[in-house]
Amino acid sequence: MSSAISDLSKVRNIGISAHIDSGKTTLTERILFYAGRIHAIHEVKGKDGVGATMDSMELERERGITIASAATHVTWDDMFINVIDTPGHVDFTIEVERSLRVLDGAILVLCSVAGVQSQSITVDRQMRRYNVPCLAFVNKCDRSGADPMRVAQQLRDQLNHNSVVMQLPIGLEDAHKGVVDLITMKGFIFEGENGEDIIEGDIPADMLAEAEAKREIMLDAFSMHHDGLTEALLEELPITPELIREAVRAGVIARKVTPVFMGSAFKNVGVQPLIDAVCEFLPDPTEVENNAIRVNSDGIEESFIVEPVADKEFIGLAFKLEVSPYGQLTYLRCYQGSLTKGDTIFNSRTNKKVKVGRLVRMHSDDMQDIEATQAGDIVALFGVDCASGDTFTDGRVRASMTSMHVPEPVIKLAIKPKTNKGMDNMGKAISRFTKEDPTFRSHTDDETGETIIAGMGELHLDVYVERMRREYDCDVETGAPQVAYRETISQAVAYNYTHKKQTGGSGQFGRVQGMIEPIDDKDFEFESKIVGGSIPKEFIPSVEKGFRSCMDRGEYIGFPVQGIRFTLTDGTTHAVDSSDNAFQAAARGAFRDNYLSAKPQALEPVMKVSVEGPTEFQGEILGTLMQRRGVIVGTTEEHGFVRIDAEVGLAEMFGYSTVLRSGTQGKADFSMEFARYGVAPNEVAEGLRKEWLDKRASGK
Ligand code: GDP
Repeated sequence: MSSAISDLSKVRNIGISAHIDSGKTTLTERILFYAGRIHAIHEVKGKDGVGATMDSMELERERGITIASAATHVTWDDMFINVIDTPGHVDFTIEVERSLRVLDGAILVLCSVAGVQSQSITVDRQMRRYNVPCLAFVNKCDRSGADPMRVAQQLRDQLNHNSVVMQLPIGLEDAHKGVVDLITMKGFIFEGENGEDIIEGDIPADMLAEAEAKREIMLDAFSMHHDGLTEALLEELPITPELIREAVRAGVIARKVTPVFMGSAFKNVGVQPLIDAVCEFLPDPTEVENNAIRVNSDGIEESFIVEPVADKEFIGLAFKLEVSPYGQLTYLRCYQGSLTKGDTIFNSRTNKKVKVGRLVRMHSDDMQDIEATQAGDIVALFGVDCASGDTFTDGRVRASMTSMHVPEPVIKLAIKPKTNKGMDNMGKAISRFTKEDPTFRSHTDDETGETIIAGMGELHLDVYVERMRREYDCDVETGAPQVAYRETISQAVAYNYTHKKQTGGSGQFGRVQGMIEPIDDKDFEFESKIVGGSIPKEFIPSVEKGFRSCMDRGEYIGFPVQGIRFTLTDGTTHAVDSSDNAFQAAARGAFRDNYLSAKPQALEPVMKVSVEGPTEFQGEILGTLMQRRGVIVGTTEEHGFVRIDAEVGLAEMFGYSTVLRSGTQGKADFSMEFARYGVAPNEVAEGLRKEWLDKRASGK
């Protein structure tokens, strides 16, 4: 069918972000259904055994949460919408961030009962970071206790959005059957088996006064960002729906206003108007500014704005890899230029070239071959070897889309296949997962020979262990999860160390002298203050290299070292016996001899934890956090719900979900993300120190 989409004003690249269980998957399913991409609606956690179409992995189906994002293409009237399904669980924030990077707009889904939840706060922060304009959809208006107006107010109070209600619900809870549109001042009732029959009518008489009042507020809010509307209001000219839509669009794209829509995905109410709103109010690819980095003729990196036009050099970002039954699938967001089947493209990171053999548009699990694509579009390529986050160009520019923020893993797990034959498959699985997900890492422990995987949380690693079993037929045994501790020093010390060795003919000699000091803002810093050549220039990098190699593992608790500044002030060289190796060894000796005098400290990952639940459980929730050495940083209470924000050491959070659930009858929920490294309490540090000393004594 179609190849490149030529009119970019008709393209929308959107994501759906939400707190887990708000109904994002259900909503996506409905969008696919109404857009004619699927012909039956399957419920999430499907009783019919099929599962929602977007949850392409068996595992996701079982867990009922969407873990990996899939890009789906739908058409709506004459518009083309690419929907990126973003994962909701906080352990997978890298997926969310990567998706947001390629989006031009988003729908923020909220539950009309639970309102703004901990995860909404996280995804909202990410949307701000990438300047993603958004619409809010207050879902589940059919649930008992539904109050979309309260949720709109929470958006304002808790997330600082200038939220503006665009609709009113016709009936709530069991009686929820439609919405009033404040732009056209009409009522819409959703009928038919799947809500596909939309009955347009007058606003119910008992709602008219409220609708008029809310419309005033809405017009007022948008007129702030649109002169045409302000003028029309002042001069009492007719306010046409077109004029209002223009003003809404301007306010949304400038990220000044968040229009609020409502309905029930599950009961098929209000979804079609939301899709209309996506087309009308979210920006097209030409209305969003994207930056890339290129190296200029002087070898200096500079940032530039990519131009979403077909006739410039091609630049695209591989934002997602997936294994499909047909081979590796690479999702590509095209930012500039165009791409045709058969073209050769270059990977800016590896400088390797690849031929574009097949170009497709994805619809969940199905695909459609296309001949060409261009800036603004999202497509998938087959058989291209690359990592997630790689940039491709046509070779006429060397450019990279700005790097994405990748957090360091905070938790590690030793894994071992249960059978010998599993070893091969485990290797394959790990190499695949590390390519797909930069927050998932793996290495072999040089002492124990064990395979260690590292990631952002227990659930994050659990999911990969499960995927090894299901997708790679490899059952693995796991050790206890280990926290990725670090160590640092708390006091400055001077060093003066001579490395001297006489073996056979040539000897080794180097003396280094200087200071080792703690620093806060960097992991490692080295400065040479050598004047007069007591150490010749060529050996100064050797000293730095020696110090740097010491950062891999500290001698206090055996973890990576961070936050040290090394200064080199003096030294001695021997005309014959000094060498690169001798000075590296001298630096290592200086560090080894003085490290413990610099009063090392153990550092633990401190997590930002947000727990929420019915107010009656406030005491229990606080209790679970206090028992875990939690430092409470804030409590918000509203309408029977409480949210408690705290900072807690990661080690204390193992198994927390079980404890929280049993203490609150399953009614409280939490999210967690890495905040920073902080000094571990004494008893933790002492335990780690003892473990490390025992390990060394036993020669492991
Ligand atoms: P996600 O985790 O955000 O993708 O949420 P899901 O789409 O998986 O929905 C979570 C649960 O809420 C499922 O049991 C859905 O059937 C249910 N759900 C989704 N939308 C609605 C809705 O509009 N009303 C009600 N009552 N339940 C809904």
